[in-house]
Amino acid sequence: MTTPFILNNQAATDNWTVLRLSETDDVATIAVTAHSIVPLDVWQAQPALHGRDDISVWLTNTTEPEHLNIDWNQFPVIALDYPKFTDGRSHSIAYILRNRCGFKHQLRAIGEVLVDQLYYMSRVGFNAFSLRNDQKIESALHSLNNIFSVSYQGSSDNAQPFFLRDNMGLTQTQATTAPSQTKRTLAEKVAHTQSLLADIAAKHSPAVFASSLAFEDMVITDMIAKAQLPIGIFTLQTGMLHAETVNMVNVIQSHYGLTVTQYTPDTPDVEQYISTHGKHAFYESVDLRKACCHIRKVKPLQRALAGQKSWVTGQRREQAMTRTTLQEHEFDEANDLDKFNPLADWTFNDVKTYIAQNAVPYNPLHDKGYPSIGCEPCTRAIKPGEDIRAGRWWWESADSKECGLHIAEHGEHVTHEDEVD
Ligand code: SF4
Repeated sequence: MTTPFILNNQAATDNWTVLRLSETDDVATIAVTAHSIVPLDVWQAQPALHGRDDISVWLTNTTEPEHLNIDWNQFPVIALDYPKFTDGRSHSIAYILRNRCGFKHQLRAIGEVLVDQLYYMSRVGFNAFSLRNDQKIESALHSLNNIFSVSYQGSSDNAQPFFLRDNMGLTQTQATTAPSQTKRTLAEKVAHTQSLLADIAAKHSPAVFASSLAFEDMVITDMIAKAQLPIGIFTLQTGMLHAETVNMVNVIQSHYGLTVTQYTPDTPDVEQYISTHGKHAFYESVDLRKACCHIRKVKPLQRALAGQKSWVTGQRREQAMTRTTLQEHEFDEANDLDKFNPLADWTFNDVKTYIAQNAVPYNPLHDKGYPSIGCEPCTRAIKPGEDIRAGRWWWESADSKECGLHIAEHGEHVTHEDEVD
């Protein structure tokens, strides 16, 4: 059977064999055939292998290549081993080889290479991946090539962070089609948002507002309440929210006299997830996190939107890199209805100013270092200077979190958990 192999973003034939040692093998005497990728200590122990262009090396995840007196570019291939998928030390070695050692040839990942990590691994310098036989090449290529159109952080593939790149890292097409940031004053934005909400109520009903009960959503709640608009408000009661967040339903009821409908996950789904993976399995992998969000957020959201003509969110372009092209009005193909983001061009300062000027009640967690609030186990307070979404799914890479915002699967937009928080 041919082992799935990816080279330079496409399926390829692997002409190399990785030599693994058993406990009894002697690094100095083990036989090495042509086109072998041998452990570095074998190459070091056998001078006869030096200078051969049909011999390459693989490094353990504790190797410090910049401290070894080796010309790494003599090897056509350097492979980095992942003995466990949870061990990311080879990510750092890849970055060091590319950026400090100047390695220019094939850099491949071997061992427990996770398909959903390929994009990030390519960013730190890998251009080749040896997969397990049970991993599908199509899924791997999709993961590698189709997740993000742009990355926020600088890395081996582009040293400049997003905000320093020409066109803010967007392609020319994206840059020219991105909504322009208007220079409207807050008063103009308020008037425009009020007008838009009235228009939605008049022309796109039945309409609902998906509230995460956070800052932005309280602005929209305030406007709906004051104009007495027939836009129903709902929230996704995931069963994992902070007590302060849950209590905002009562605050809205007492302050505005509005009822916030709460959509909860299906109990059998939750029970099956917990019995199969454990209640907090979302810390273990991006897939398990998405599975939890799908059960606790996406499916209840789909129920909340059933039968509606449009829905409203509190998303803003400024909130995340993946929202920079957010439209005020778009068609939600996944749920087959119109979607409005009336605060699309509001800044965080606009939101805070509106809240202060209008004495809008808000979640007390915002005063405790939580600018962005989701489920309790998946949200932490941020430190001064951190990105406002740094406290969300903080154990995942920044790109993964960005992926979580408006992920595309199989080329189609899908409703994602983060659209309502
Ligand atoms: S945010 Fe965390 S707890 Fe909430 S649904 Fe998603 S993974 Fe589950």
